[in-house]
Amino acid sequence: MKTLVIAEVKGNSVKKVTLELLSQAKRWGAESHALVIGSGVGQLADELAAYGAQKVYVADDASLDKYLTAPYAQIVVDAVNASGAELVLMSSSEMGKDLAPRVAAKLDTGAVTDAKTITLEGGQVKATQLGFAGKVLNHVVFKNPQHKVVTVQPGTFELGEKTEGAKAEVQNLAMPQVDLRAVIKEVLKETSEKIDLGEANIVVSGGRGMKGPEGVKLIEQLAETLGAAVGGSRAVCDSGLMPHTCQVGQTGRVVAPQVYFAIGLSGAIQHLAGMSGSKVIVAINTDPDAPIFNVADFGIVADLFEAVPILIEEFKKLKSGTAAAAR
Ligand code: FAD
Repeated sequence: MKTLVIAEVKGNSVKKVTLELLSQAKRWGAESHALVIGSGVGQLADELAAYGAQKVYVADDASLDKYLTAPYAQIVVDAVNASGAELVLMSSSEMGKDLAPRVAAKLDTGAVTDAKTITLEGGQVKATQLGFAGKVLNHVVFKNPQHKVVTVQPGTFELGEKTEGAKAEVQNLAMPQVDLRAVIKEVLKETSEKIDLGEANIVVSGGRGMKGPEGVKLIEQLAETLGAAVGGSRAVCDSGLMPHTCQVGQTGRVVAPQVYFAIGLSGAIQHLAGMSGSKVIVAINTDPDAPIFNVADFGIVADLFEAVPILIEEFKKLKSGTAAAAR
C-alpha cells in the first residue's frame, strides 16, 4: 500500500511525530512517500529519507511559511494524486486536525482523527479510535477503497532506526491557484522555552492536589529534573494555577509519552481521555481509591509534598551517577 506522510516542521527540523509515522510505514513494508510544505524546507528531504521516505514531495514557497488551510489542503491533494497514495498519514496536531477533514472531503473519503491503532490487512486500512471520552473503542474501516486519511498522536508509533546517508527521489510541487480566503497576519505564541507537551517523552502532570503555587513549583522541579514537559488537569488550569496550554484531557491536549506522571490528580474520565495512551503511567495520590490507580502501572499512595521532593532527589542522584560513570 502506498502511504503519504504529511511532514510537520519546527524551526529547521522535522517534528518527531513525522519520523514516527515514516518509521511505521517502513515497518508495514509500505511504499512510503512524504510531503513537506513550507518556506526553505527542501533541505529536509534527507531527514525524511533517513526514516524511510522513498520519495519526497516538496512545496517550497515564501507564502507557505505559515500554515494556511486552503493552499496546504490543495497541496496535499496534489501530492496524493502525484504519488497515487492510498493512505494519508498526519499528526493529530492543530495543523493535522484542521487539514485532515478538508483533505478527506476533497478526496471524497473519510478522516479518522486520533487513531490509537492502524492495521493494514489485505489492502484494507482498519483503525481504532476512542469515543465518548474514552468510554468506547470505535473500530473504523473506510468505504472509499482508493483514499484514507488518518491522524495520530505523537508517541503512538515507535521511532525507527535512522539510516544515515539515505536519499529519496525529490519532486517539487507547483504552488496551487487557490482562493486564500484568509491570510495570516501574525502568529501569537507563548514565549516559553518549555518542552512541548505533544513531543515530550516524559510528561509530569499535576492536579488539584497541588493546592497552590508551592505544589506547582514541585511539579515543575520534577519535570525539569527529568527533562519532561509539564501538564495539568482542567481543574488546575481553570483555576489559573497553570496556563490552559498545559491542560491534558478531552478538552485539552492528547499526549502519549513514554512515561506520564499523574500527581495529585484523581483520574477523571475526561483527563484519562488525554493520557491513557501513555506507555507507562505513574500515579501519586493520597487516596488509595482514586480512579487514577486503575490505569497506573506504578502507584504511590502518598502526599505529593512528601513524595515528590524524594523523587527529585533520587532522580538527581541517578543523573549525577550516570554523568559520573560517563566521565
Ligand atoms: P480532583 O478530581 O479534585 O482530584 C484531586 C486529587 O488529588 C484527588 O484524587 C485527591 O485524593 C488528590 N490529592 C489531594 N491532596 C493530595 C496530596 N497532598 N498529595 C497527593 N494527592 C492529593 N479534566 C481534565 O483534566 N482535562 C480535560 O480535558 C477535561 N475536560 C472536561 C470536559 C468536560 C465536558 C467536563 C464536564 C469535565 C472535564 N474535565 C477535564 C474535568 C474533570 O471531570 C475533572 O473535574 C478534573 O479532571 C479533576 O481535576 P483533578 O484531578 O485535578 O481534581
